[in-house]
Amino acid sequence: MELSGLKNEVIKNRSGDKMYNLIRRLYPIPRSITGDGVRKTLDIISGINPLTIHEVPRGTKVFDWEIPPEWNIKDAWIKNSRGEKIVDFGKSNLHVLNYSVPVKKKVNLKELKEHLFTLPDYPDWIPYRTSYHNPDWGFCMTYNQFKELKEEEYEVFIDSTLEPGHLTYGEYFIQGKSNDEVLISCHICHPSLSDDNLSGIVVSTYLALLLGKLKLQYSYRFLFIPGTIGSIMWLSRNEDKTNRIKHGLVLTLLGDKEKFHYKRSRKGNAEIDRIAEYILKQSGEEYGLMDFYPYGYDERQYCSPGFNLPVGRLSRAVHGKFPEYHTSADNMEFVHPEKLAGSLSLILDIFNLIESNKTYLNLNPKCEPQLGKRGLFKKIGGQKETEEYQMALLWVLNMSDGANSLLDIAIKSKIDFGMIKTAANSLVKVNLLKEKPL
Ligand code: ZN
Repeated sequence: MELSGLKNEVIKNRSGDKMYNLIRRLYPIPRSITGDGVRKTLDIISGINPLTIHEVPRGTKVFDWEIPPEWNIKDAWIKNSRGEKIVDFGKSNLHVLNYSVPVKKKVNLKELKEHLFTLPDYPDWIPYRTSYHNPDWGFCMTYNQFKELKEEEYEVFIDSTLEPGHLTYGEYFIQGKSNDEVLISCHICHPSLSDDNLSGIVVSTYLALLLGKLKLQYSYRFLFIPGTIGSIMWLSRNEDKTNRIKHGLVLTLLGDKEKFHYKRSRKGNAEIDRIAEYILKQSGEEYGLMDFYPYGYDERQYCSPGFNLPVGRLSRAVHGKFPEYHTSADNMEFVHPEKLAGSLSLILDIFNLIESNKTYLNLNPKCEPQLGKRGLFKKIGGQKETEEYQMALLWVLNMSDGANSLLDIAIKSKIDFGMIKTAANSLVKVNLLKEKPL
């Protein structure tokens, strides 16, 4: 099968429903940047694509950072003076400040309030908050509930552990014909949030599953890592391999109803940037393009100046720009099977173009070759498609000086990439063109 045929597989196999159901399965797991929630998540993904699981010990130096102690949590609650649980981790894992230190004590309302997080603007939602590097404990709750709290004695209990342990991450590698790599990176550190993190995880998982069936030009490396510390750790452990990365995408926020947004790599005009823009334009859907800025997800690390890798970011909604971001409203209603499937299809189009965007050399560069005697020039024109094909032949011949890829020619000529590729194939057959060696 060809990569271009995989889009039909997405529809035939109902991949959108499968990805949605995988989100549903992963949603309740209490994840963080370390701990058993991550292990369980990677174990479930391994049921679809067997991942290589790595465990990096606490205290390992990774550039300017250090692997933190491993955090695990069993239970947490707040009880009022009558012994009733008013906040229960069992009902939503967002209720606990992620990485809370253990606590069990009685507190008055004033002290309790110093450890509570709410969203007054969205009084029904629970915020998602973390405190990875600043030892603290806390609870997140709806503002409506917060408003009802009375002056009384409360008991707070967080049954968490912070122990030496490890940071866990998963890797899935598909060897292509070439050792040049396409990097796909998603973060796995958020608990019950469907779009931020889980959509990226399931789209990456199904991409790996589909690509694994093909013979590919490039090798594909999928990273399932905790945000920030994960990519810093991976880069520090694989510095010698990063020159193989020719294209990369950070994936997240791919299941909501927003239009697509592509954030360019720091280079700004890398091949992946031009390919993503071209595919978005061709999709006929609305989309947004953003230049690189040093905030967001793991593209910040891949595009740090010491690496400056050609890695962009694809999402639908943009982090921090929609009210549901990092709240309990980023739930199963916020993501949609057809949007997940649309994201998967769009990325397959991007990969298809990565695989087929070759650069050629014109073997008869001094004046135009005579196309008629090679059966490539139709005397009786008129059909629009035939005319376009003729033009495509001329464009490919003229621009194939080794400096322009087929995509460059498609953009410059405004002729569809597929037609440019067909023309190049015809010219190769009659020995007027050859692929430029890498
Ligand atoms: Zn996030």
